[in-house]
Amino acid sequence: MPARNPAVSRTPAARSTVAAWSDALAGRLARIGLHDERDCVLHLPLRYEDETRVVALADARDGDTVQIEAIVRDHAVQYRPRRQLVVHVDDANADEGDSGLTLRFIHFYGSQLKHFEVGTRLRIRGELRGGGFGQVFGREMIHPRYGVIGDDTPLPDRLTPVYPSGVGIGQIVLRQAIAKALARVEMDETVPRRWLMRHRLPAIDEAIRLIHNPPPDASLESLAARSHPAWQRIKFDELLAQQLSLAKAHAARLARTAPALRGEGTLVTRFLQQLPFALTTAQRRVVGEIESDLAQPHPMQRLLQGDVGSGKTVVAAIAALRAIDAGYQAVLMAPTEILAEQHFRKLAEWIEALDVPVAWLTGSLKKKQKAAARDAIESGIARLAIGTHALIQEDVHFARLGLAIIDEQHRFGVGQRLALRFKARVTGDGAAPPREPHQLMMSATPIPRTLAMTYFADLEVSTIDMLPPGRRPIVTRLIEASRRDDVVARIRHALGEGRQVYWVCPLVEEAEPADPSVPVRRATASRNETLQLQNAIDTCDALALALPEFQVGLVHGRLPGADKADVMRAFGDGSVQLLVATTVIEVGVDVPNASLMVIEHAERFGLAQLHQLRGRVGRGTAESACILLFQPPLSLTAKERLKTMRETQDGFEIARKDLALRGPGEFLGHRQSGEALLRFADLQSDQPLVDAARETAVAMLADDPDGVDRHLQRWLRGGEDLLKA
Ligand code: ADP
Ligand code: MG
Repeated sequence: MPARNPAVSRTPAARSTVAAWSDALAGRLARIGLHDERDCVLHLPLRYEDETRVVALADARDGDTVQIEAIVRDHAVQYRPRRQLVVHVDDANADEGDSGLTLRFIHFYGSQLKHFEVGTRLRIRGELRGGGFGQVFGREMIHPRYGVIGDDTPLPDRLTPVYPSGVGIGQIVLRQAIAKALARVEMDETVPRRWLMRHRLPAIDEAIRLIHNPPPDASLESLAARSHPAWQRIKFDELLAQQLSLAKAHAARLARTAPALRGEGTLVTRFLQQLPFALTTAQRRVVGEIESDLAQPHPMQRLLQGDVGSGKTVVAAIAALRAIDAGYQAVLMAPTEILAEQHFRKLAEWIEALDVPVAWLTGSLKKKQKAAARDAIESGIARLAIGTHALIQEDVHFARLGLAIIDEQHRFGVGQRLALRFKARVTGDGAAPPREPHQLMMSATPIPRTLAMTYFADLEVSTIDMLPPGRRPIVTRLIEASRRDDVVARIRHALGEGRQVYWVCPLVEEAEPADPSVPVRRATASRNETLQLQNAIDTCDALALALPEFQVGLVHGRLPGADKADVMRAFGDGSVQLLVATTVIEVGVDVPNASLMVIEHAERFGLAQLHQLRGRVGRGTAESACILLFQPPLSLTAKERLKTMRETQDGFEIARKDLALRGPGEFLGHRQSGEALLRFADLQSDQPLVDAARETAVAMLADDPDGVDRHLQRWLRGGEDLLKA
């Protein structure tokens, strides 16, 4: 490892550093995202190898990766069981006794043989293994790294960094490029000194250098665990960048304009009067939060979260009516047709009673129907539009869009949400500045507070934290698939008492992908789908046979929209008693008389999905149950998931568990998690740093705009877009 030469003057802003690389090297580095020397400096080691010490063989255990020094006793090329080079060496540091070691090379060059002349001294690094056939042949290393050394070849005095690498670029080249960059680039400080002192963080330049090049006395453990102050500084910087960019996004939003939706509120009043129930306290509170945002002349960006069945739809309806009251249009977009249709039926029933024209637009409509819906939307006759992605196609223009509501927002990509935002700009008020609609996003996956705070600093959050009155707890049972007959008996019993039952078959993907711009996934999904569709059909037949006195229905993603609606309607009015379904029923279905749900292969589902599914029962007055059929053996996480399901029904608790099991990237979906921005920090284990970064961000934004810009420039490099939607 070349040491840093203090005599070389390091330029603070080495921009055109690429010139220092050959084209070939530049190309190889670019392939792993390193475009200039600054990138190299921020390319941090994954771990280190300790080549500063050699151990005595006698002190090392099998399985350890160790560095030793040894003298060659002999070598030979063997041909059995396959061609290989076998070298016997003796530990140079052994006093006596068991000091022999065999080195085996399956791949080797003839030119290597000269390294193994008898008496040659080698420094060897590799994983120690017990020899074959007990200890008869002693211990060995397969393909160790080695170098020929003299009697007093010095050991490196620094830990050797191991960098994330890629095809066509190895550690040695990377180390050289990075060491060179380190010698030329100095990291200017972006964070005011007093904040560093307050949070006990080292200067960035110092931290970076230590991480690339730790001194021998550095704690290897704390470096590996990234708890070392130098690593803390890196994570802090990363979190700070995130906070700063979110805050900037927030400021930018406040500078944009949206129609202030302040109507008389007559529609809302009439709506509430005809509603067959009173709003819960939680619903009233979130309605208040939304209404005060809507009255502002800049776009609302609010997430309405609430557990399955907590009553988000009514809140959405009230928000829509606010917009309509103020003379604007509202749109409600859902990720699947079946969910959109549920909304449509429910809202149309409530809202058309108020003489508000509602348009319905999905991909499966006939051309003529689509055109009619688009006309109604464009002319402004339709005051509310409900549908799927079809609503954000280019040919859909809103006359006066004031509010966009997005259900199950995590199933849409950032781009789709942006598209909706620009819908309102098409027809503005002539010379007036462009306006955009307010946005209300809904999610039944409650996002834990810490996560919301970090990722969604520019998303206000409203939470419905109670269920409507009269809900009864759902009893959850885990039953092995082999006891299927018992389960069928239970179903018969429930049906006999006049109740209804769901049977959920596993299906990986729905027919309609959340993001139509992902054709590849769709192709594999549809193969899966075919297989599992067959399974659903078979299950339906078997259950119909076992329960001849009842009506069994089947609903799945491949069913044409109208047929799907027919089956759902039949289940809704009770003429079908047992509904076999793929996960198309995951969201939004509301049949209060259904009180038993069986989920087959429950071990294949994610926690959030299981929770959503289970939320379909327990909506009426009857005692409800959910049976999770599983096929052993279970993986550890599957076991953990099922156990969580049995133990709790609290969506927030489940979300916390889910987050712990999956990590935030997967939990939120990559496209919106901003995960690309967090390479080093971990939101859960680095919580104190998150707090420190927030505090520092506020102060820097107030009095150090230059530092803010330099900091963002360093850490984000254009990644801010992720946060803007
Ligand atoms: P989710 O939050 O899962 O979207 P929904 O909006 O579908 O929940 O509501 C679930 C059920 O609860 C619906 O049947 C809805 O009409 C009913 N509901 C909503 N709010 C109340 C309330 N305040 N009192 C009684 N029932 C309610
Ligand atoms: Mg809902």
